[in-house]
Amino acid sequence: MGATSGQGRQAGGTPRAALADLLAGNRRFVSGQPVHGHDVTAAAAASGDQQPYAVVLGCIDSRVPLEAIFDQTFGAICVIRTGGHVLDRAVCGSIEYVVGQLGVPLVMVLGHERCGAVQATVEALRMGQRPGGSLAHLVDEIAPAVTEAGIDDPAVLPLAIRRHVRRTVRTLRQDDLLAGPVAAGRVAVVGGLYDLATGEVALLDPG
Ligand SMILES: [Zn+2]
Repeated sequence: MGATSGQGRQAGGTPRAALADLLAGNRRFVSGQPVHGHDVTAAAAASGDQQPYAVVLGCIDSRVPLEAIFDQTFGAICVIRTGGHVLDRAVCGSIEYVVGQLGVPLVMVLGHERCGAVQATVEALRMGQRPGGSLAHLVDEIAPAVTEAGIDDPAVLPLAIRRHVRRTVRTLRQDDLLAGPVAAGRVAVVGGLYDLATGEVALLDPG
């Protein structure tokens, strides 16, 4: 379905074209008219060299399957998922690889409503109990957004979710290997929010 995938699929495509393609895929999904089935013939068709046009960093939440909500076929986008789309060196290194080695012009950070990782951070901060294990890393990384949103604000969850997306976007824009391409306009890092009920992705302004 190359014709419906747009020019963002071509090597050296622009961030703008890539974003348009990604959002067009979400509109197909929302309208109930996806064109990309996940069948083995599509896998085989994409089995040569990969030329993805975007990388999406999202949450592990089972309700947010990224290839599906953007109606993307095999070979189209790289996907990274962590709890609350929290960054670590492996995540940043993976994005650096996709941008630097595969020439991908677009990075999207996608948060979602009612995120359990952000909710868990709200509860941890309210109770003053930092979780053990590596879960502490997630809470530590999300905590600044919760604090900024206001721990006692009744709307802290939706506010913190948005702030956390924007913080993640800012961190990636300042990444050692991404800052140059971003400043030159060759790569864009954008934030989005997924609505669990409607399936819609809305872009978040930088804030
Ligand atoms: Zn989540």
